[in-house]
Order: sequence, then structure tokens, then C-alpha cells
Amino acid sequence: MDNAPDWLIAADSLFGMPFHFWTLQFFLVGAMVGSFLNVCIHRMPRDESVFNPPSHCPHCGYRIPWGLNIPIITWFWLRGRCRSCQTPISPRYVLIEILTAGAFVASWLVYGREQPGVAFAAAALLAIFIGSTVIDFEHIIIPDQFTLGGTVMGFLFSAFVPSLHGELTAALSLKKSGLGIAVGAGLVYLVLRGGKLLFGRQRIRLAPGSRIVFTETVLALPNGEQLPYEELFYRQADTVEFQAQRMELPDRGYTNQRVRIALRREPPLIEIGDEKLDASEVVHLEAITDEIICPREAMGLGDVKFMACIGAFLGWQATLFSFALSSMLGAVVGVSLIALGKKEWSGRLPFGPYIAVAATVWLFGGSQWAERWFSR
Ligand SMILES: [Zn+2]
Repeated sequence: MDNAPDWLIAADSLFGMPFHFWTLQFFLVGAMVGSFLNVCIHRMPRDESVFNPPSHCPHCGYRIPWGLNIPIITWFWLRGRCRSCQTPISPRYVLIEILTAGAFVASWLVYGREQPGVAFAAAALLAIFIGSTVIDFEHIIIPDQFTLGGTVMGFLFSAFVPSLHGELTAALSLKKSGLGIAVGAGLVYLVLRGGKLLFGRQRIRLAPGSRIVFTETVLALPNGEQLPYEELFYRQADTVEFQAQRMELPDRGYTNQRVRIALRREPPLIEIGDEKLDASEVVHLEAITDEIICPREAMGLGDVKFMACIGAFLGWQATLFSFALSSMLGAVVGVSLIALGKKEWSGRLPFGPYIAVAATVWLFGGSQWAERWFSR
């Protein structure tokens, strides 16, 4: 820490204020960040701007005046209801604010005294985890704003807080950050490309008579879920199959045909019964069906970028640790859910939350544990 400015070292009286004065600041800023995460969680998957319009009741459009919109407190003060139309506001909002504030405080308490710079980085990373986890649970995607934005943020933190990687200079720290990005993203990408390891195929059951739409870039399901082709079709052998009760192409229709779509073939292929079509000439396809069979992936491209973000903040060892621990967690939770009958084997499970939990374990002690383990 020889090169670090004094304020990074003298944490006991940072800017002349006592340590727990800063604990309180971390709590307050954490609550505000949590409030912003709520906006991100609601809007990012819908491709809406997170800045405009300002927060409002989704039911009646009422805008809480700026001065009254205080994280955590407002929700309790309004007893969890919109002030104007009395529609209940989900307790999830206040829980995320409290959780984020708690994560900020934990970062400060663990790292504040000896490495205040690292406390800031840890708080930022945990905020990214909270946002990503909730969105991944709901939509099985992690927005680029979190993953790619987080990777850039981790790289910047590495430049300004070299002790994040146990280094004294920005150059050495950035090198470790870059290596972390490469190893983290490379690892998950290889597993994705490499294949059907644990996965195979999944059956997505739909309500009878559901309409599915293949656009130029995504398969849209009736529940609003969109499966991007880059996630569905990785390998040449990847196919999406279904029994179409009715199917419409722009220029013709079919009834009761077996359909297979393989977009990684050369040329990309659509098979309808015995007929073969070049998919690159079909821009839009709609079908009525009650079940689709897709390639199953435990992980997606979002997880590749997510692991890059973790590597940027925490280095390559953290990505190996997170990958190993998250795979174990995912397997244990997945098998338990199936055993308890809560989830069908074919169900889609988000993987990001497991990665986030594993990396959090690393952040709060796993790294020291690994050091001791490997230095024996
Ligand atoms: Zn309202």
C-alpha cells in the first residue's frame, strides 16, 4: 500500500470521522443503490430506460414526489401501498433496498479498516449480483448493462484500487483483472460450446393451443419469454422441435405437421413433415402447439459475460472457485427441487444466482481459505 493515498490507509478516522460514521454512509448509499436496482430490475428486461420516466406507480401512474421518495422508509410509511390508488406495492422493493444496504455495510465492516478501496469495489460488485440475480430468476437473462458494464467497472476499480488484486501498482492489478476476464469468460464459454455435458434436451410445455412465433432473432413464447437464437442454437446439431397443430408462413399454411428447426446447419434448415426449407428465406413463422423441445443449456451467453465481470473484479482464481462451487450448488438445488416435486426435470433453471452466491463466498472468506488450502 506504499503508493496508496493516505485516505485509503487511515480508515480509523477517514476524513477525521469515526469508522462507524462511514458504516452509516455505506448503509444510506446502499439503500439508495438498492432503490435504483429496483428500477433496473423492473425496466431493463423490458428494454425501458432506467432514467425516464421517474419512478411511478405501475397501476395508476402516480409519481412519488422526489422529496418523499426515501428508500426503505417510504415503503413502511405508506404501509406498502400506493399513496394515490392504494394498490399494494410488492415488499420485494423494500427487501431489495434492505439487502443492498446490508451488503454495503458488510463490505465496509469486512474491508473498511484495512482496505477501504476494496470495500467500495466489493459493494459495487454485490450490487451487480443483487440486480443480476433477481432478473435472472425472473427472466433467465442477465442484462449486458450488469455483465458488460460490471466488467468495465471491475477493470476500472482494478486501476484505482490495486489492492483489490493484492498488488501495489495499477499496471500489475490491471494485468490480473484482464487475466480474470479471459479465464472467467473462456471457462464458461468452453463448457457451453463443449456441450451436452449434463444437459441434453428440454421439453417446454405450453398451454393447449399456444401460439409461438419465430422472428428473425428470437423464439417468442406466449408468456412473453423470448429465447434468442444465439442461446438456442449453439451447435450444428441443435434443433428445436414441435408438433404444429397449425403453422403459418408468410405465403402458406400447414396443419398437423412435425417441425424441426436447425439454424446452425449450412444452409439453416426448417423441416415441415417431409418438406425441407432454407430458413434464411423465411423471415417469420408462427405455429400453434402445446409443447416445444429445445436444446437444454444450464448456462447461457449471459453467464459467460457474468463470469468475465467476476474475473475483472476478483481475478482468475475467483472464477475457478465460483465455477466449481456454483456447479455444485446448482446440481444440489436442482436435484432437490426435482426430488421435492417442485420443478420438472425439463424446467429451465437460471444459473447466474449460483455464480453470484459462489463469488460472494469467495469475497467474504473463500479467497483466504483457498490460499491456506493451496499453500499447505
Ligand atoms: Zn397507484
